[in-house]
Amino acid sequence: MKRTARVIVTFNCNRKCPGCCNERMVDEYRIPMFNELLKYEEIIITGGEPMLISERCLEFLHRIRNSGFKGKVFLYTAYNRAGRLWSDTQLLKEVDGVTYTIHKEYSDKDIAMLGNLTRFIKENGLKDFRLNVDARIKDDLNWGDFNRNGEWAHIRFIEWKDECPIPENEELFFYDLMREELP
Ligand code: SF4
Repeated sequence: MKRTARVIVTFNCNRKCPGCCNERMVDEYRIPMFNELLKYEEIIITGGEPMLISERCLEFLHRIRNSGFKGKVFLYTAYNRAGRLWSDTQLLKEVDGVTYTIHKEYSDKDIAMLGNLTRFIKENGLKDFRLNVDARIKDDLNWGDFNRNGEWAHIRFIEWKDECPIPENEELFFYDLMREELP
């Protein structure tokens, strides 16, 4: 059995990255029963953009923990309203780690949100926040400026891969948190 359940909780996204894998992954994922997810050592909440439905993600996280899950739960996102929206704030505080991505087609708003999240991490003494930046925009900004106080566990420049490979130790699921009744 693989170690990690990578769970797409929505395909909705506020971006339109050219070559987005989600449009091509229809045959790659399975739709699980909730209890199946609890058998993994780690759960990754991803999308789409999970922060667009942060209140549902928070509810999902609580359900996972209240079901006795002892592993780690991580959040992959590229959007935040930390300190402004209660459910974003709580979700960021309650998961075990966050991978935050700056995509190639970033906007001024994305940079403002990155600054907001960096401050939020510092003010709350949060750990295990990882910043991924698309390698194609590596030289656009001095990204290290966002890590002056070591807020981020690391900043990595990630090469875009058209093939959308699923890491060997991960199983891909679609667990639609917008469904009225969840299995
Ligand atoms: S942020 Fe992710 S899910 Fe959204 S369009 Fe870009 S690659 Fe696709």
